Amino acid sequence: METTVEKNTKAIGTYAAEQPLAPLNIARRSLTTHDVEIDILYCGICHSDLHAARDEWGGTKYPIVPGHEIVGRVTRVGDHVTKFKIGEMAAVGCIVDSCRTCDPCKEGLEQFCEPGNTIVFGSKDKHTGGHTFGGFSENIVVDENYVLHIPETMDPATAAPLLCAGITVFSPLKHWKAGPGKKVGIIGIGGLGHLAIKIAKAMGAHVVVFTTSISKSEDAKRLGADEVVLSTDEHQMKQSPKMDMILDTVSANHNVNDYLKLLKVDGTLILVGLPADKLEVGAFNLAKGRKSFSGSNIGGIAETQETIDFCAKHNITAEIELIQPEQINEAFERLEKGDVHYRFVVDMASLKSV
Ligand code: NAP
Ligand code: ZN
Ligand code: ZN
Repeated sequence: METTVEKNTKAIGTYAAEQPLAPLNIARRSLTTHDVEIDILYCGICHSDLHAARDEWGGTKYPIVPGHEIVGRVTRVGDHVTKFKIGEMAAVGCIVDSCRTCDPCKEGLEQFCEPGNTIVFGSKDKHTGGHTFGGFSENIVVDENYVLHIPETMDPATAAPLLCAGITVFSPLKHWKAGPGKKVGIIGIGGLGHLAIKIAKAMGAHVVVFTTSISKSEDAKRLGADEVVLSTDEHQMKQSPKMDMILDTVSANHNVNDYLKLLKVDGTLILVGLPADKLEVGAFNLAKGRKSFSGSNIGGIAETQETIDFCAKHNITAEIELIQPEQINEAFERLEKGDVHYRFVVDMASLKSV
């Protein structure tokens, strides 16, 4: 279906991996009958935005407008929209469409859609024929079935990171049954890691956090960690308890074998971090103790809503540094160094005056 391009929209993006992000204009499609238009108020910065903008995984389509932790207000709805009303809070994460008919889609696992889903930026846009643009922009048009509800009681700026960081850790914590009586390890205290600590704790697990940053140790306790291990300290690593599951949120290359050794018999190490380089796994570190090495990727639409509702119920939102659109490049530099406390969120409403 070809849809007309309607709205000229201010955005922040880049035309090449080595260029900094800067203001540019994009076009948003005119509303189809099931579309919702959202005036974007806040958008979180995920390390995946940085990996993609710099083409660290390969295959980035330029120009890229990153941003996939989007919260705003509905400004217009298509004729057949039933799930949203003008003026309501609404949110968009990574997935903005999928085939809706394959087995994973039917099971609510749109993140694993077999013919391939449409990601909020850099995917083929079946409406315009071009590619999609993300949330570092004034507004966005998305099919209502891929838009999430944000309770009016939640602060929209600190809720934004739930749309990627939140669901990405909630989904595996639930799947591998984090809860009372379970010891759960979390590696890395960044955007994903700090929400994982809060969510695993709210699920009732005993939480052990691994960090390379001694300066984050106190915060880890405040966020809910029962134990904190400085992973650069061999002695502390040797003293660490054994765990049922470990969630690895590290964005750069690192030695996963050090953590496989810390699993109980039948324990699982789950990668959610997506470093560009290959990771090496020693066979004996899996065979001895019947251990599993696994991974998880964001989560489906219904589970994203479940994450938001779970977090609203348990008073969980992100710890954020609110920044202006012109500070995105500086935030990328700080993310690269692990200097994040604990999610950058961009005040997108101010883009209108740029
Ligand atoms: P982030 O905020 O930058 O946090 C990553 C943390 O990893 C850092 O704060 C740091 O924590 C630790 N770290 C960084 N470099 C390290 C190194 N060389 N060795 C050991 N630890 C290191 O990133 P994020 O936004 O949470 O994203 C984390 C990763 O998950 C990224 O690769 C991102 O692309 C990926 N991701 C995956 C999914 C998915 O669906 N699978 C979804 C979203 C994001 P400490 O200072 O505590 O050591
Ligand atoms: Zn993300
Ligand atoms: Zn599908």
